[in-house]
Amino acid sequence: MKKLSRKKFIQKTALLTGSASLLLSSCTSGEEKKIVTPNIITNKKYRWRMVTTWPPNFPVFGEGCTRFAQMVSEMSGGRMEIKVYGSGELVPALESFEATRVGAAEMYHGASYYWAGKDTATQFFASIPFGMNAQQMHAWILNGGGYELWREVYDRFDLVPFLGGNSGVQMGGWFNKEINSPEDIKGLKMRIPGLGGKVLEKAGGAAVLVSGGELYTSLERGVIDATEWVGPYHDYLLGLYKIAKYYYAPGWHEPGSVLELVVNKQMYNALPLDMQKIIEHAAHSLHLWGFHEFEAKNNIYLDKIKRESQVEFKLFPQDVLDLLRGKMDETLEEIIADNPMSKKVYESFSQFAKQVRGWSEYSEKLYHNKISF
Ligand code: CA
Repeated sequence: MKKLSRKKFIQKTALLTGSASLLLSSCTSGEEKKIVTPNIITNKKYRWRMVTTWPPNFPVFGEGCTRFAQMVSEMSGGRMEIKVYGSGELVPALESFEATRVGAAEMYHGASYYWAGKDTATQFFASIPFGMNAQQMHAWILNGGGYELWREVYDRFDLVPFLGGNSGVQMGGWFNKEINSPEDIKGLKMRIPGLGGKVLEKAGGAAVLVSGGELYTSLERGVIDATEWVGPYHDYLLGLYKIAKYYYAPGWHEPGSVLELVVNKQMYNALPLDMQKIIEHAAHSLHLWGFHEFEAKNNIYLDKIKRESQVEFKLFPQDVLDLLRGKMDETLEEIIADNPMSKKVYESFSQFAKQVRGWSEYSEKLYHNKISF
């Protein structure tokens, strides 16, 4: 075995013992000093707070945050400990963005479409009705120019965003009224937030605001005719299969909702480079885990719903989907008309969506249509 040079030996020893001070004290030449950076030798402890838009320990969403905090602690050797707060524990869910912006918390976990009231451009980084699916969204954000735009939009609020999971394509929702034609949308009272709700209203329905905690009784008592929630896993846990007649697909309103982990920019920039990288890569890990946890659990719970209930599975008729899609196009025109940043993001988003759909005709879509397991 080749004899190690003194420099290499010192580097290896320092890595093994985790002792950066050994490296520092052993180096004498200018060249050797270059590899010692303040990023390695700092022992500063960080005690951070993460607020979330989810109830404490909410399956996948909240669970993922706890896993993220644990990972950061382990990767940093305990230099950073993050305390995760469920919605309402430190601030209400929908104040997470603002709380992190002003530094009342160092980071939050949520979804960017909650902040459309701050800037309509934010919602392109979560999910757009009739937009891209999860895989395509990730490709746009990570490899197609989306991330640079996301940074630009959030930079104006002194925030740094990272991917933090994805629900995958959601279900269309639970209905006690059958949808056979566009006429059936008229007067339909449905809990469906965000852009999906706007589209429903344009098509003649009524988007009703109901919190997660009141969903079950609202549907049971007929206060609403229908509700969307997430997908089989979360919908099962809420018990919606016990009180609805029909379970509709596809989830046209949320084809792949991206979750986000967002850090206060000033606090992030003040971190040493290795801590910044730990947050970045722990977020990537959270993102992968969250996305695939949905895929792994939804199929199990879909099966349970089919076995344990009388719910009828139905597909939205094509003319209903066409009507809703037309209304979404109108909504997009309105969004980009009065916000140059939204227009800029939309142009990148729609250009990527168009191209990626060309490929999907030959890849995922064709594969799923032609190959059955
Ligand atoms: Ca939903």
